[in-house]
Amino acid sequence: MAIPLARSSEEAQLYMTLNPCSCGQARFPADSMLLSAGDEMLCRYATACPDCGQAREFLFRLPAEPEPRVSRDQVWFGGEHPSELIDAGQWMWVAERYAGLHAADPRQLAPGELPRARADLTFAVAAMDEAAKFVPPGADGVPESAIWSDRGREEYRREPFRFRRSAIDAVREAYRGELARLGQA
Ligand SMILES: [Zn+2]
Repeated sequence: MAIPLARSSEEAQLYMTLNPCSCGQARFPADSMLLSAGDEMLCRYATACPDCGQAREFLFRLPAEPEPRVSRDQVWFGGEHPSELIDAGQWMWVAERYAGLHAADPRQLAPGELPRARADLTFAVAAMDEAAKFVPPGADGVPESAIWSDRGREEYRREPFRFRRSAIDAVREAYRGELARLGQA
């Protein structure tokens, strides 16, 4: 099997979280190790599961030429090309979960919760941006080929309309609006 491409360490980390141990533990506190294979650079994460002790390992291919990051304090998963690790449905699932962690109205947030709320919503925006990258130019939605995981297929079965370009754009706008309100709070 070909070694999957991880565009960034953030993307690799999220992928590992989305693929938990068979015991259910998603935490994977591993250091990464760089390896070279021919003219490719690989990144290996290996550790024992903190719960059941099972040995776990993930191996990713790194981009031949790292793409420039937008900025250091923004969540950045990768450049303009869609992910090869995490499918469109998984990105939407992640976005919805992160966006749902805090109240949308800053007045309903507990004191001290604001920085965390901003960070989680920024993560949700970045995840929706990743989902949007799967919509081909001129197409009105995510093609079936952009959904390959069980969770992604489940999301699609549940609410196929969310995979339309208009729906993805609406959610992105809503999250960005929320983020702007939190920024002023
Ligand atoms: Zn385990």
